[in-house]
Amino acid sequence: MIDLRSDTITKPTSEMLEAMMTAEVGDDVFGDDPTVNSLQEKTAEMFGMEDGLYCPSGTMTNQIAMRILTRPQDEVICHKYSHVYLYEGGGMMYNSMLSPKLLEGNRGRITADQIANSINPDDIHFPKSKLVVLENTMNKGGGSIYDIEEIKKIRKVCDDHELKLHLDGARFFNAVVTTGESPKEYGKLFDTISICFSKGLGAPVGSVLLGTKDQIKEAKRVRKVFGGGMRQAGYLAAACIYALDHHIDRLAKDHTRAQIIGEVLKSLPFIEEVMPVDTNIVIGKLVEGKSEKWLLDELEKQGIRAVGFGKGLVRFVTHLDFGGDDLSMFEKAILKISS
Ligand SMILES: *Cc1c(COP(=O)(O)O)cnc(C)c1O
Repeated sequence: MIDLRSDTITKPTSEMLEAMMTAEVGDDVFGDDPTVNSLQEKTAEMFGMEDGLYCPSGTMTNQIAMRILTRPQDEVICHKYSHVYLYEGGGMMYNSMLSPKLLEGNRGRITADQIANSINPDDIHFPKSKLVVLENTMNKGGGSIYDIEEIKKIRKVCDDHELKLHLDGARFFNAVVTTGESPKEYGKLFDTISICFSKGLGAPVGSVLLGTKDQIKEAKRVRKVFGGGMRQAGYLAAACIYALDHHIDRLAKDHTRAQIIGEVLKSLPFIEEVMPVDTNIVIGKLVEGKSEKWLLDELEKQGIRAVGFGKGLVRFVTHLDFGGDDLSMFEKAILKISS
């Protein structure tokens, strides 16, 4: 089976498993796990930020960030298709009593001008605009990348209006492998950053939240109440350290393979158009009269898995467990689907 549903489906390589099995561990709720501590320090150092906190999921790191950067009744400004709004079960409302302000934007990216124009006036009728969340790369935007110059302008708007800025960087490394920028440039621009290890980096579990020492101290308190304090988590953190050392540069291969998938899709009679492929996500739009379910069923018959993305869109994501041979098989198999 060629599984392109998500880059989360990967399993640890034998080298990664070896790193996990030989990890030195302790009780991380007591702060005693040397491998977790080392992952947190290593990630913070990479981004030039003060401290980090290892959490079970990217949803949790985002939810914790939104909690510590706001107070109940505040407003969060984000894209209408952002993960924090669309895919976290209404968590910002449920966990932190926040209201979202949803902006439109080019392939999931919002601009400094839009943000500046959407900040609420100081008037008791309105929730207080307090936090901006950006997603880079942007999942619903087909793995689109923010222009760092725009992010600098957004930072300026945030500073001028006393807003905080959080980065949902679940696929952050897919962005910087493409642009050649350093994580440190991003560390300077955001108050908090969330990084996922279980996506393109290929680790089984976990995300790290980055921020100041004080923010991470507060984040630890929130992680506890969310039920995310883990004990000998060093076995998992070891996989993340391994991924940082060995799986970042190779993301470029996923991007090349995604480009090729995009070209193949374009040639198919039942695909009307393919979104630009900037990183490892390929989104194809079906011609009228063909449903997502039809294509997913046909793909399944050919041993290929993808996901429906609504409104006649189907998403394919390349990853560590999709190699060159798989790509050749994919190309042959998908051509067998007749419309
Ligand atoms: C996957 C993802 C997350 C986190 O998801 P978890 O499954 O909770 O780890 C957050 N943001 C984006 C954009 C994602 O794609």
